[in-house]
Amino acid sequence: MSLDIDPSELSSRPRWRHLLLLALMLALLLFPLQRLAEQYYRGELAQQNSQTLDLYVANLLGILKRYEVLPQTLGDLPALRHVLEDKRNPNHVDEANRLLSRMRELTGADAIYLMAPDGETLAASNWASADSFVGRNFSFRPYFQDAVAGRLGRFFGLGTTSSKRGYYFAAPVREGASVIGELVVKVDLDHTETLWGNTPEQLVVTDSYGVVILTSRPEWRFRATRPLSEQERREIQSIQPYPTLDPQPIDLIERAWLTQERHLDEMGWTVSIKAPITLIERPVNTVLLVGTAVLLVLILLIGLTMLRRRHYLERIAHDAQARRELEHRVAERTRDLERLNARLKDEVLEREHAQQELFRAQDELVQAGKLSALGTMSASISHELNQPLAAIRSYADNAVVLLDHKRADDARGNLQQISEITGRMASIIAHLRAFARRDRHAPESVALQPALEDALALLAKRRRGLDVELIRDLPDAPLWVQAGETRLRQVLGNLLANALDALTEKAVPRKLWLSTEEAADSVTLLIRDNGPGFTEDALARAIEPFFTTKTSAQGLGLGLAICDTLTRALGGELHFANHEQGGALIRLRLCRSAPGVVPHAPEDPSN
Ligand code: ADP
Repeated sequence: MSLDIDPSELSSRPRWRHLLLLALMLALLLFPLQRLAEQYYRGELAQQNSQTLDLYVANLLGILKRYEVLPQTLGDLPALRHVLEDKRNPNHVDEANRLLSRMRELTGADAIYLMAPDGETLAASNWASADSFVGRNFSFRPYFQDAVAGRLGRFFGLGTTSSKRGYYFAAPVREGASVIGELVVKVDLDHTETLWGNTPEQLVVTDSYGVVILTSRPEWRFRATRPLSEQERREIQSIQPYPTLDPQPIDLIERAWLTQERHLDEMGWTVSIKAPITLIERPVNTVLLVGTAVLLVLILLIGLTMLRRRHYLERIAHDAQARRELEHRVAERTRDLERLNARLKDEVLEREHAQQELFRAQDELVQAGKLSALGTMSASISHELNQPLAAIRSYADNAVVLLDHKRADDARGNLQQISEITGRMASIIAHLRAFARRDRHAPESVALQPALEDALALLAKRRRGLDVELIRDLPDAPLWVQAGETRLRQVLGNLLANALDALTEKAVPRKLWLSTEEAADSVTLLIRDNGPGFTEDALARAIEPFFTTKTSAQGLGLGLAICDTLTRALGGELHFANHEQGGALIRLRLCRSAPGVVPHAPEDPSN
C-alpha cells in the first residue's frame, strides 16, 4: 500500500491544539487526585492523633483516679479527727499538719488540707510554708459545698494563694450521719501540659464552660472556646476557677485545624488534639507535584510520539515525492532513450545504405581493376590467340592445297590439327571468361589448386618468355577454401603477374616457388620469387590504391589494393614480406571450407 501524503497537509494540522486540549483534560484529573490524597492523609493523621489522644486521656484519668479515693480514706485517720473534735488544741493541730505533710510527700499530691464544716482550714500539708492554707476559708469553692452536702466534691481551679492550677477532690469526714469536716486533696495538673512537648499538634482541654484549662499553646490558656451565657459568667465570677473573671473568646479558625475530641463525663471536660491542616497540605502538595510531574512526562511522551509520527509521515511524504521525481526522471530518460534509439535506427539504416554503396563501389573498382588487368594482358592474349589463328590459317591453307592434290589423308591431318588448335583457343577464351565474370558475393567452397592453375595458364606465355622456373610444392588433394571462384582467380592472377613483373628486372635464373601451409581452420598459399623484392616504401604502402613503382604503362597501382580488399572480404589475410635469401614472399591466408565440386579444368594452353 502506498501512503502518499502531501507535505503541505502535514504542516497545516492543528496538532499542538490537540496536545493542549489533552493537557487540559489530564490536568482536570489533578482535582480528584488532590481530593483522594487529602482524604488519605486526613485519615492517616486522624488515626495517629486518635491514638495519641487515647493515650493522653488514659494518662490524665489515671492521675485523677489515683487521688479520687484519697480524701475519703484519709478522713478516717484519728489524728485528723482529733483536730476536728478539738481545733483549739495546738498539739492536735501540729500532729495533723505533720501527718498531712507526710501524706502529701507519700502520694505526690500538690496539697492536702482539712477544713471545718464552716470552711475554715484547720490543718494543711503546707502549714510550714508562707502561703499556708491554715486559717483560710475556702467555703466559696464548689467542692466544699459538695462535701458539706455529703458528696464527693470535684473542682478545677486556680489556687487562690498559689495561683497554680489544680484539680480538687473533697470528701466529707463523718461522725455518724453528720458531716464534721472536709478533707481536700489538690492535684497538680501543670505537668500534664508540659508532658505534651513541642509538636505541631496542639493539646486543648476545656472544662464544662468551654474554657481552656490545659493546653500546649500558652496563649490559649483560660480563653473561651464558645460564647458564655450570662449564667455561666456569673458562676465563674463566684467560684473563680481562672485567673480572670471574664474569659475572652479564642480566635481560632476551625477549618485550619483537624480536631479529635474525647469527652470526660465525670469531670465535664473535653480533651482535644488540634492538628494544623498544613500537616496534610504538605504531603498532598507533594502528591500533586508528583502527579503534575507524571502528567508532564505523559504529555511530553505524547508530544514526542506525535512528533515522531509527524516525522514518520513527513519521511513517507518525502519518499513519495522522491519516488514521483524518480519516476518522472525515468520517464524522461526513457523518452530520451526512445528518441536516441530511433536516431540510432536511422543511422544504422543510413550506414547499411552507405555500406551497400561501398560494396557497390568496391565491386566497380574490382571490375575496373580486372578490366585494367585484361587491358595490360590484351597484348599477350591477342598474341596467344593470333598464334593459333595463324596456325589455323596455314593448316587450312595447306589443307586446301592438299585437297587440290587429292591428298585427303594429309588434309584430314591438317583439319585434325585445326580442331585441336581451336580447342586450345576455346580453353584460352574460357579462362578469360572465368576471369572477367562478376562473382556472387556469398562465399563458396573453392578448390585452391585449379584456381591457381587457371591464373598460371593466363600467364603461361609470359612466364615461358621470361624463362621462369616454376617450383610447385602443392598437395594433390584439392585444398578447399572459402572464396569466390572469380575473386580468388583475380587475386592469384594479380600476385603472379606482380612476381613476373619483378622477375623481368632480374637476370636468369628466374624462379617462382608455390607452396602451401595447412592449419586446422586455414590454408596459406606462399608465393615466392627471386626478384629484387619489395622496396621499403612499397612494403609500407603496397596496399594503398594507386601506389606503384612501375611506369604508368606497366601498372596503375590498383592490383594489391584490390587483392587486399577481396581477401579481407573473404575473411582471409594478405601478408607481404621479403625472403631472407632475397625476393618477395607473399602469404595469402584463406579460411578452410567444406569440400565442394571440382570444376572442370579447362585445357592448359601451355600444354
Ligand atoms: P602495379 O603492379 O600496378 O604497380 P600493384 O598494386 O600490383 O600495382 O603493386 C604495387 C607495387 O608493389 C609495385 O609497383 C611494386 O613496386 C611492388 N610489388 C608488387 N609485387 C612485387 C614483387 N613480387 N616483388 C617486388 N615488388 C613487388
